[in-house]
Amino acid sequence: MLPFDDALRRILESAPALPSERVSLEQSVGRVLAEDLIARAPLPGFDYSAMDGYALASNELSGPGPWSLPVRGESRAGALAPPLAPNSVCRIFTGAPIPDGADSVVMQEDVARDGESARFTTPPTPGSHIRRRGEDLAEGAIALARGTRLNAFHIGLVAAVDRADVLVARRPKVAILCTGEELRQPGAPPVPGTIPDSNGPSLAAMVWSAGGVTDIRPRTGDTLAATEEALRAALRDSDLLLTVGGVSVGEHDLVRAALSNVGAQLDFWKVQIRPGKPLAFGRLDETLILGLPGNPVSAQLTFALFGMPLLRAMQGDNKPVPPRGRARLHSALRHNPGRTDFYRAQLDGELALTASNQASGSTASLAYADALLVVPAESTDLAAGESVEMIRLAEL
Ligand code: AMP
Ligand code: MG
Repeated sequence: MLPFDDALRRILESAPALPSERVSLEQSVGRVLAEDLIARAPLPGFDYSAMDGYALASNELSGPGPWSLPVRGESRAGALAPPLAPNSVCRIFTGAPIPDGADSVVMQEDVARDGESARFTTPPTPGSHIRRRGEDLAEGAIALARGTRLNAFHIGLVAAVDRADVLVARRPKVAILCTGEELRQPGAPPVPGTIPDSNGPSLAAMVWSAGGVTDIRPRTGDTLAATEEALRAALRDSDLLLTVGGVSVGEHDLVRAALSNVGAQLDFWKVQIRPGKPLAFGRLDETLILGLPGNPVSAQLTFALFGMPLLRAMQGDNKPVPPRGRARLHSALRHNPGRTDFYRAQLDGELALTASNQASGSTASLAYADALLVVPAESTDLAAGESVEMIRLAEL
């Protein structure tokens, strides 16, 4: 059985680089930059005022204040500024260009306006309330590096450096094939003995949030022939195939046999983790295959821990693996050495309260959890107050 880290490394190393495509800013959230985005001009592009007030040349002020100077001209956002007339101030507004000849802005709150002249007592220091051309980014600087997964703030910067589109990795295509006679569509009339397919929709949501597109295949029953046929169809034209269920060792667990019959090569099919030991990974030609266990918590967590990083790595994401933090155990935690365990927990500040139900079928405990506590395979029981590693589910 492979330790967790080895399994993750093997999966990430096998990630093929997807080709890139150009998309508009509106479509770019969550996508991964396939180019260094260069600032073609300084940001900001010109010196501008950070305040409503009066622009002036500070070296023209003589003697001790207060000073009173005539107001000549106006600079407002969206227009060119007139040059500063000698021995005067220019009315200026936030975002407006600094007039040639001016080197500072006195803010409106510090000025008494008396007809055509402006009176103020505080001497301005050169540069005050001026945002300089290029102070945010110099011309030619890398605004965003290749491999950045674009969030709303990145998109703001892309727009600020005057781009309407970006080069990103193509979305990986992910086929999702759930197996099991017992499964039905959520919301469909309940036939006794059947259960709603809860993994399919959850996995689809994770695929989307990791930048992929889904191809949700019709569910298949537990016969070898039907499973092979469903696999052949699902493998066509996808970058990643997810199978769900049927990879453990029961008589009706046919997915591993069916995968091998259709010609897939399995790299491994067991990982030393809990939940989720029977996790298969392999490929057929260009399509990677993750065979997830059927138990909802196992299926969803193994995909979160291995599948989402894989999809991100395929897109060239330079941070494909979720960050880990630390929390303190609220109560003692029993742990049998042997497998890396991922315990569902709720967080209260830095305290972690493990869910009382850690069964791998407990979808509610997963839905209510804030974090997974990562307890290494070699660890024994942990006492209350001990510090443990954790992954916040919101950061997956
Ligand atoms: P299996 O891995 O096929 O033996 O399934 C293990 C457990 O997970 C069984 O209780 C299944 O009914 C359940 N299960 C399998 N697939 C799904 C699914 N897509 N949604 C909800 N439960 C499932
Ligand atoms: Mg099954």
